[in-house]
Order: sequence, then structure tokens, then C-alpha cells
Amino acid sequence: MKINTLEKEASTNKLNGFSATDIGDDHLYTGLETPMKPDAFKLNDTEKKERIAILFEEIMDVMGLDLTDDSLQGTPKRVAKMYIDEIFSGLNPANKPKVALFDNKYKYNQMLVEKNITFYSNCEHHFVPIIGKAHVAYISSGKVIGLSKLNRIVQYYAKRPQVQERLTNQIANELKTILDTEDVAVIIDAKHLCVSSRGIKDETSSTVTAYYGGNFNTSEKITELQNYINS
Ligand SMILES: [Zn+2]
Repeated sequence: MKINTLEKEASTNKLNGFSATDIGDDHLYTGLETPMKPDAFKLNDTEKKERIAILFEEIMDVMGLDLTDDSLQGTPKRVAKMYIDEIFSGLNPANKPKVALFDNKYKYNQMLVEKNITFYSNCEHHFVPIIGKAHVAYISSGKVIGLSKLNRIVQYYAKRPQVQERLTNQIANELKTILDTEDVAVIIDAKHLCVSSRGIKDETSSTVTAYYGGNFNTSEKITELQNYINS
């Protein structure tokens, strides 16, 4: 117990010997699970929205915005609703897509690729958008999944404060669990607005991350997958 506390202190204060200030804009990825408090769901969604509205109103007030203005009046509540019901709804496991599996009656045994899945996420370091495309693939171990569910799984994990490496691995992990196979691949190509609209202000760069599990982790399969994505 004591060791855990110490380790936790060490990891929050120092990250590989660097403090959060040293790291600055360099994005960091600490684990597969989204870091959540044990009591993350002590408040229900309605209570969370009420609380966020109050706090966001305070942020606006501190910035000097006139909250009596007709245009700004509704903003705190709008932001609170958007956070909980939309852009961060993937934090709540209750919103996880229910996935039905079907027998692979077609005996299709090659890779299935669902490409160009557009998603909107948010960088957990700056709370500004990450906009990208995900390509996911799997080889059936005997079960197949409805195609729209692949899309829904991507959207669920995107709707969290994220880092792209974690998003990639969370999607891959979910697919492996659901489809009961290691043979899954996920490629994400995304633009981070914290890089393009502020900070270094690079408008042309994008970030690519990949997960190749099981049989996908061979140069042959990676080439095949890349060919499908580029076709
Ligand atoms: Zn960022």
C-alpha cells in the first residue's frame, strides 16, 4: 500500500525525470487505460452537467466575459451538455457500443478492412480537437462483427480526452477482446489542433500511429493492408 502511494507520487511529480513543466507541449502517453478516479461516476450525468456549467461560467467570468450578454448567457450550460453527452461521452462505460457477433458463414478468411473512419477527438493536454481517420482491420477467428460496429467502437474511444497512441491501442484492445483474436490492426492518421492552431503552428503535419497484432505483424500483411488503404 505504502509502495503504491510512493510510486504514484513519483509518477505524478516526475515523468522519466522530467516535471510536467519540462515536458510542456510534448505529448506524453502513460498507459492503456484512460486515467480515471475511482469515484469517477459518483455524480450522475445530470449532476456533472450542473457542476461543469457552474465551473465553466467561472472560467468565462475570470476571463472577463460578460455573462449577461445574450450571446454568452447559455454558453456554460451548452459546454457542459456537449462535454457529457457528446465529445466526452466515451468516458462513461454505459455508452460503450453493444456489439453482436455473427458466425462467419461465408468462410471468408482474408483480412477485412474498414478504412477512412472519420473521427473527432480531443487532446487531453490542451482540450482542443484531434481530427483524423482511422483504418481498422481484422481476420476472423470464426466470428464476424457488423461493419457499423467497427465505426462505433472508434467513435466511443475517440470521445474521450485522448492521446493518439492510447486511442490506437484502446481500439485495438477492444477489437481483440470482442473478436477473440490477436489478428487486428489499427492505423490512425490525425491532425492535432494543439499543433496546428497554436504552439508550433504547423498546419501541414499529421501524426500516424499503428497497431499490428498477431498475423498482421508481418511485413507481408502490413504491405497488403497498406495497399487496401491506399487503393
Ligand atoms: Zn495537445
